[in-house]
Amino acid sequence: MSFASLGLNAAILKAVEKQGYDTPSPIQAQAIPAVLAGQDVMAAAQTGTGKTAGFTLPILELLSKGSRAQRGQVRALVLTPTRELAAQVQESVATYGVNLPLKSAVVFGGVSIIPQLAALRNGVDILVATPGRLLDLCQQKAISFSKLEILVLDEADRMLDMGFIRDIKKVLALLPPKRQNLMFSATFSDDIRELAKGLVNNPVEISVTPRNATANTVTQCVYPLDKTRKSMALIELIKTNDWKQVLVFSRTKHGANRLAKNLDAAGIKAAAIHGNKSQTARTKALADFKAGTVQVMVATDIAARGIDIDQLPFVVNFDLPNVPEDYVHRIGRTGRAGSTGQAVSLVGLEEVKLLHDIERLIKRTIERKQLAGFEAPFTIPEASSRSGHKANSVKKPNPNRSKHAQQQANGAQGDKPARKYDSRQQSRSNKEGQSQGANKPKAAGNRAEAIANGNKPPQRNRPPRRSGGATGGAAASSNSNTGSASKGSVNPYANAKVKN
Ligand code: AMP
Repeated sequence: MSFASLGLNAAILKAVEKQGYDTPSPIQAQAIPAVLAGQDVMAAAQTGTGKTAGFTLPILELLSKGSRAQRGQVRALVLTPTRELAAQVQESVATYGVNLPLKSAVVFGGVSIIPQLAALRNGVDILVATPGRLLDLCQQKAISFSKLEILVLDEADRMLDMGFIRDIKKVLALLPPKRQNLMFSATFSDDIRELAKGLVNNPVEISVTPRNATANTVTQCVYPLDKTRKSMALIELIKTNDWKQVLVFSRTKHGANRLAKNLDAAGIKAAAIHGNKSQTARTKALADFKAGTVQVMVATDIAARGIDIDQLPFVVNFDLPNVPEDYVHRIGRTGRAGSTGQAVSLVGLEEVKLLHDIERLIKRTIERKQLAGFEAPFTIPEASSRSGHKANSVKKPNPNRSKHAQQQANGAQGDKPARKYDSRQQSRSNKEGQSQGANKPKAAGNRAEAIANGNKPPQRNRPPRRSGGATGGAAASSNSNTGSASKGSVNPYANAKVKN
């Protein structure tokens, strides 16, 4: 199937072609015709499936047919849980809409509202927003939704996890009843279905599961290391393997800063992103990282959530996460959309238990490796299959074990073309006579199973994050109130227009 056969106009097809996509991903193949037909859509699809283009492309097509947004009006509204995701969605809108005379803008908290007010004044065709800042703007009467045609809730499950339900309901109350609704969520939990009841009308249900996406496209290994030597070991790994575009996870903000400094001192250009960094600094770091001027980005879990970078080749766990599910999210940053990636974990003796928890969760032993000159004074045994384990016992090196581990480890990479979707991705629609919930994890108790099957696990309940004007995810702890959303500033995404 080609993009042309989906009914998109030449201007959009040209932009898609420029991205190098030749085949629609399963979610795109199903969502695009449904959206173009004016239907409501409820899609179970996680990041990495191509969902953003799945809703952006048909929205651009539909909007390009109607008349432009009038002063203060918005024609399509995309709500996202975090500012990072908002910026990325808007970037996609700008990329795919580059040949169209449509205007788009992004608004989120933690930055000055003034440029955002200015951007909205003349009306925008597509507005991407986090809920809290959107409500602030509505209160200031900066936006009118009376001509709204399409609403998208992106990552609805995360929005609920982050405590946005009341904000979402407030936003919904401001919208005209007659509109097209698209809802995207990694899982269809009972809460999501409840939310959907008041939102979508007779929706086309789509479910896309990138089955074993992690297993097939990400090579994983661990290096047992003395924790005081992790920095030096990482420098060695990056330099000897000439790794470019490395996303490194640190458990703490302080640790992220310190590591970025050490890498810089060793001549490896690095930037740290975490909640104490201003939005401007984080956006700049991400843009530099994407552009390749920053080689290593050191991030905490919260700051990294929602970051989507095409074909990110290397993810390093400088510290293992405390919650094993976070490991799966972290390494999900690489090997996306059919490209291959490497996930490397540096494991100190005190982290062996965490590693075993991860291995039990993903139901596989991760290959142990030794870095010449950095051999640890301990080896890491395999996790026992039951809940008890022999984690902390220090073992002498045993070559047979590592051979066995290697056999078990996930090493299948394949030489897939970078921009093609893996045909093994599973997709179904309820139209094809299969029940929507059949293949999805049902509850928190099924997290391990979901991950082992390559599905995104149900989210844990997280405390509500919204406070004051800051909206979403990492934004809540940002201390920036500078105008990073203004044009000409370092924020490459802010208030961008598809075309002037
Ligand atoms: P998303 O799930 O929207 O976060 O997209 C995941 C990644 O897939 C993004 O980096 C997109 O640039 C990429 N992508 C989207 N559609 C396609 C496609 N049809 N072929 C190849 N890559 C794609």
